[in-house]
Amino acid sequence: MLTTPIPKTMKHSFFLVLIILITAPVFGQTKHESSFVSPLYQELPLGAIQPEGWLKHQLQIMAKGTSGHLDEVYSKIEKDNGWLGGAGDAWEETPYWLDGAVPLAWLLKDAALQKKVKKYIDWTIDHQRPSGYFGGITKFERENDTLVTVKNVNEAGDDWWPKMVMLKVMRQYYQATGDARVIDFMSKYFQFQLKTLKTTPLSRWTEWAVSRGADNAMMAQWLYQQTHDESLLELASLIESQSFNWSEWLGNRDWVIWAAAHQNHDNWMHRHGVNVAMGLKSPAINYERTGDEKYLKSLKTGFSDLMTLHGLPNGIFSADEDLHGNNPVQGSELCAIVEAMYSLEEAAAITGDASYLDALERMAFNALPSQTTDDYNAKQYFQVANQVQISKGVFNFSLPFEREMTNVLGMRSGYTCCLANMHQGWPKFAQHLWYKNTKGGLAALAFSPCSVKSTVGTGNAEVEIAETTTYPFDDKIQFDLKMKVPAEFPLEIRIPGWCKDPSVKINGKKVPVENGGQIISINRKWANQDQVIVNFPMEVTASNWGSNSTAIERGPLVYALKVKERWEKGKDEKEGDYFSVYPESEWNFGLVQDAVKSPKEKIKVAEIGSAGSDFVWNLAHAPIEIYVQGKQIPAWKAIDGVAFQPQTARDGVYKGKVSDKTTQLTLVPIGCTKVRIVAFPVVK
Ligand SMILES: [Zn+2]
Repeated sequence: MLTTPIPKTMKHSFFLVLIILITAPVFGQTKHESSFVSPLYQELPLGAIQPEGWLKHQLQIMAKGTSGHLDEVYSKIEKDNGWLGGAGDAWEETPYWLDGAVPLAWLLKDAALQKKVKKYIDWTIDHQRPSGYFGGITKFERENDTLVTVKNVNEAGDDWWPKMVMLKVMRQYYQATGDARVIDFMSKYFQFQLKTLKTTPLSRWTEWAVSRGADNAMMAQWLYQQTHDESLLELASLIESQSFNWSEWLGNRDWVIWAAAHQNHDNWMHRHGVNVAMGLKSPAINYERTGDEKYLKSLKTGFSDLMTLHGLPNGIFSADEDLHGNNPVQGSELCAIVEAMYSLEEAAAITGDASYLDALERMAFNALPSQTTDDYNAKQYFQVANQVQISKGVFNFSLPFEREMTNVLGMRSGYTCCLANMHQGWPKFAQHLWYKNTKGGLAALAFSPCSVKSTVGTGNAEVEIAETTTYPFDDKIQFDLKMKVPAEFPLEIRIPGWCKDPSVKINGKKVPVENGGQIISINRKWANQDQVIVNFPMEVTASNWGSNSTAIERGPLVYALKVKERWEKGKDEKEGDYFSVYPESEWNFGLVQDAVKSPKEKIKVAEIGSAGSDFVWNLAHAPIEIYVQGKQIPAWKAIDGVAFQPQTARDGVYKGKVSDKTTQLTLVPIGCTKVRIVAFPVVK
């Protein structure tokens, strides 16, 4: 047991605990006979974590907008819904929406939304076929008045893929309510899959099911943790054998190199950005089932390669629709962001690897908020890192060119997968701020204002922890504990990888802590009104990106040039109302080399506001500004709306003609921008 302050003789063991936690991710995990490795961090029931402050406001905005009302504003879900027994759409979009709306309903304790989403869940459970098959009434069933059975599924059934999403919905509904029907429902379905997959494989209807099989396997393994039925592991293994082999590809560098070099039709599903985002969880799922550490290595190698070859400064990789290199004018699909976030949340829980949580925060706080409107009713199918205008047109994307609607902010513009799928981003992020650890304690693995309620220690003592902060804008996070009886348990806190000089105080007294990139564990007898304050000092740094560009970062946030916006409303005959956004101030600046070389001394930071309970991710609410010297590059002009990166020399310096005049540039968090430069050339 550790108390505070930690006596000198204890310090060694304190660090030993830290070192073990950091270097041996399997420490403390339970190995079952089947080699199944329980996740290091377990999800808390939905509702145990309550969002507060800016995050709560974000979720409230979503509940008021499309996330809470998609079934009223989007005809594909509204009309004759297949997931309510109708003859309308029974494919992916309704489950996509529910995958975000279900956690949202319970995070906000929104009774009306809970009632609304429960309709779909009830219909799905009530209409599971006696064979175990579930989903919309199939064409065969309607025409032949015969239900799908184990024997006739090959003719009578339909795509395995949308069911994978519905299973994720069911898991969350179960975590919110404990409704035992979910366990029966899933058990029956997985038995059905076990009996039928060999003759009616994942590939029977669509390649989507094959490329996204890891989600199916993940759900079988989740149920295994509830029921310990070994046949579920056999099923998960069978599913894996019929799915794209992401685990091997991610560990084998040929795949990502090939994806960087080829943009043709061959094997395009292998480099489809959303598939890749979903496939990232695959090695973690395989590790969980087998205990084979080669999968941990595969994920580490693959994610690092992916971000090196295709990564953009806002934390996501290019996915427009395919992986498309690291040039700052490439696009990223909104589905790729929310799916990659979810994969990282799962991978971090299973592996305990803090680097996936750094990556998660980078995506959540930078890429995600810049791709939707303030009211969460419109979104871009593709956003661009260096995005100097949002408009109808043909950009630097893989496809589709002829529609010209993939970059605008619309509800139905681009493909509508993102309109249905974007709702899972913030609610799942909120749900994964805290986890339960394997030693009866709690772990704060990602940060935002919230509170958490759980039971801890061997006696299951109740604890409530208020997490007060405006992180990611503020470097201070305060944890206040409320307990009726004291209890001993480990409280784990992630120290972000970017943090060089963290400090942790317990009841005002400092405890020793090393540099970032680790999860620390503080084991002691905690009591009512105990307080932990962590400080993660945020330094301004300059980082190097595609086309030898430079981005300015501070803590978890990446900063972009503040550009005055002009919004224009448009209407497309096929794809409906949309917004274009044009720059109303100059954007073609390079950063002065002197400043980039000594950011600490030459780049200034100003807190101009605070991200409170009225915060919105837009220019008007940006709470932090960064001031840096820049010079205009007159020849850098948008061509058909695209700001192709000026060529720089090895030292990153643009050697063409540059304005003599030095201008003080204002940068704001990229999540608050719609038009911007984030990957800058450097000038003398
Ligand atoms: Zn999409």
